[in-house]
Amino acid sequence: MCTQQGCRVLLTDKPCSFDTPAAEAHTVHVQVKGSSTYGVRSSLCSSGGRPPTLHTLFQSCWKLQLGRSCSVTTSTQRVPMLPRDNEEDSAMRLLLVGKTGGGRSATGNTLLGRCAFESKLATEPVTLSCQKADGHWNGQDITVIDTADIFYLWDDNAQVHKEILHCIKLSSPGPHAVLLVTQLGRFTQEDQEAVQSVQDVFGFDVLRYTIVVFTRGEELVSGSLDNYVKYTTNKALCDVIQSCGYRYCSINNWARGAERDQQVQQLMEKIQQMVQENQGKYYSNEMYMDPYLMEEKVKYHVKRYKEARKRRDQTCCRKYWKCLMVVGGGVILVAVVLSIFLSRQKP
Ligand code: GDP
Ligand code: MG
Repeated sequence: MCTQQGCRVLLTDKPCSFDTPAAEAHTVHVQVKGSSTYGVRSSLCSSGGRPPTLHTLFQSCWKLQLGRSCSVTTSTQRVPMLPRDNEEDSAMRLLLVGKTGGGRSATGNTLLGRCAFESKLATEPVTLSCQKADGHWNGQDITVIDTADIFYLWDDNAQVHKEILHCIKLSSPGPHAVLLVTQLGRFTQEDQEAVQSVQDVFGFDVLRYTIVVFTRGEELVSGSLDNYVKYTTNKALCDVIQSCGYRYCSINNWARGAERDQQVQQLMEKIQQMVQENQGKYYSNEMYMDPYLMEEKVKYHVKRYKEARKRRDQTCCRKYWKCLMVVGGGVILVAVVLSIFLSRQKP
């Protein structure tokens, strides 16, 4: 992708080996005639030498965009790269997110059919660091990634950025499905903040890959989940469900045997349907694509996503007030016209 501000290039013709502990990164400077130099660091990794494909790519890219020729110079520097898990993994990656105590770890255990993550009632967070565990469902390999409190503690804490980095690494190259876990009938302010934080960590688009999972499904004794969602007066929950494309499911993590299997079946079918709708692609963002991701960059991206979300919320809010003012103005106008009309009717 090329813009006036810079170039971002996804190279598919040159395989990157992300498991190399250190590799050469190319610093690319694109000089467009009559304009300033744009410095771009590509996400290419190579064992050394100048990659001609990169030259060609940048030149054709800039010619295409600007209709002008440009010269490209590259220099190399050694940059330590993060060892990445899952690179060649064919497993379906499922990332559990949500507020603490909502039942993320318990849901992970239900999906895997074993006690892989610690899950218990506690006043303090139980899952202290993000973890992953592998399993199978219907012949398909699955990897479940359980998260620590990265969607809850929102101070500018270095530990949080470190954990986010860990989470990105565990779910790399990106999750096929994000499961937003919340308790049935208890969608609170904390849940709202967790949803905001999920967007701040991964970007707004992540909601296209998200399914809302209501734990404590056993409490759904009278009426269906559809009716619960349809008739809830919790506006924040309605907004989340809408943003997630009306994808939701309930689960009773205390169920065992056939009941458990049936629930897993339902949730996995929902996940598969969503994956199909997303053309089998997993979710990715700048952080997943950056082989040199470090805590400072995590901090930078999270700040960007957060600002973007705030701008979007403000725009929505402005639109809402505009609508309200237009409707209000209309009502006042009708009332005034009506009162004038009625006063003229009087003898
Ligand atoms: P996390 O902090 O989001 O990982 O939440 P946990 O998995 O540790 O669960 C917190 C508490 O909720 C634990 O006591 C679980 O047993 C309980 N819990 C989780 N899912 C369910 C469920 O479906 N039904 C009931 N009754 N309790 C659940
Ligand atoms: Mg947990």
